[in-house]
Amino acid sequence: MMMKNSTLDDIAYKLREAKTVLIYPHVLMDGDAFGSSVALCCGLKKSGKKVTIIPEGDEGVPSYLAFLQNQCISIREIVSDEPDVCIAVDSSDTSRLEGRLDRFKSGKITINIDHHITNNFFADMNYVDTEASSTGEIIFRLLKAMDIEIDKDMAEGIYVAISTDTGGFQYTNTTKNTHLVVSELFDSGIDLERISAELYENTPYEKLKLIGEILDNVEDFCDGQAVIAAATLKMMENTGALMDQTEGIIELLRSISGVEIACLLKEVSDSQIKVSLRAKTYGDVSKIAAQYKGGGHKKAAGCTVYQGLEEVRKLMKKDIATYLQTVTNNINEQETR
Ligand code: 5GP
Ligand code: MN
Repeated sequence: MMMKNSTLDDIAYKLREAKTVLIYPHVLMDGDAFGSSVALCCGLKKSGKKVTIIPEGDEGVPSYLAFLQNQCISIREIVSDEPDVCIAVDSSDTSRLEGRLDRFKSGKITINIDHHITNNFFADMNYVDTEASSTGEIIFRLLKAMDIEIDKDMAEGIYVAISTDTGGFQYTNTTKNTHLVVSELFDSGIDLERISAELYENTPYEKLKLIGEILDNVEDFCDGQAVIAAATLKMMENTGALMDQTEGIIELLRSISGVEIACLLKEVSDSQIKVSLRAKTYGDVSKIAAQYKGGGHKKAAGCTVYQGLEEVRKLMKKDIATYLQTVTNNINEQETR
């Protein structure tokens, strides 16, 4: 596999030529995956193409992102059996396309737009910018390269992508360029009050109850440098919350004083655990996720482990402890040199 970027101009050219386009956000869409898909779908539709978003299986749009749907958005519409272009957004590798891989490959051309450090350039044309705050930031540049005027619907998709992936402009992936892009989104007339209220002031009460249960069961280890917690099926039953409402809880765990690495185990079933990992400053959790065929960024990564909750808890505690030990040793070595 050639790990080389195509230019955005080359990708824009292919998209301009295409008549039918399928957009593939990663499985379990987050704000960046769905916001980027919305912006791209609107842009392509308004330039006259047949286009639709293809989420995994029967996965729905998470309730906190449902407000982004507008008249330009089509999901799982029949567009073509032989689409001109299939484009993956915010997906580091083909495992993020899960059961859709064959359909993705049915595109005459496949394109991969992403910002994950673990991206393995799986498509015919790839554009991976690990300096970009979010895939949404790249979609902004791609729409411009296509000479598409960014309207309010596109701008709102991009804003949601950026705002959610930067934790509201807090994380270190936020750059001057991120803010420059956002300043242009204001020119397109985004409704910030509506977006912020939908994203950040619309927490279902069940979710707060779930947070309560999770925080009641946090375990710290490595002298408080690491914490691990679980969102169990039992908790979902107790609180009435849904697993996709765990979004943001891992960041709460990382925010605890003294914590460098936080881990949240989401019990999908008794033999499948979705693991979320976060680092605060010097840690690189993508290395831990990679041991389980997962991936992500230095400070935010994840993987799925096909074992029971308690086994996975043990594995993660061991791996995090080993990782922290190695990093501490390296730092000490450098200091004594
Ligand atoms: P989250 O913990 O919010 O699910 O994911 C954090 C980051 O890690 C995201 O950027 C996401 O794309 C990436 N990530 C999460 N789970 C997986 C996984 O199973 N495989 C890969 N390659 N990346 C993942
Ligand atoms: Mn992203």
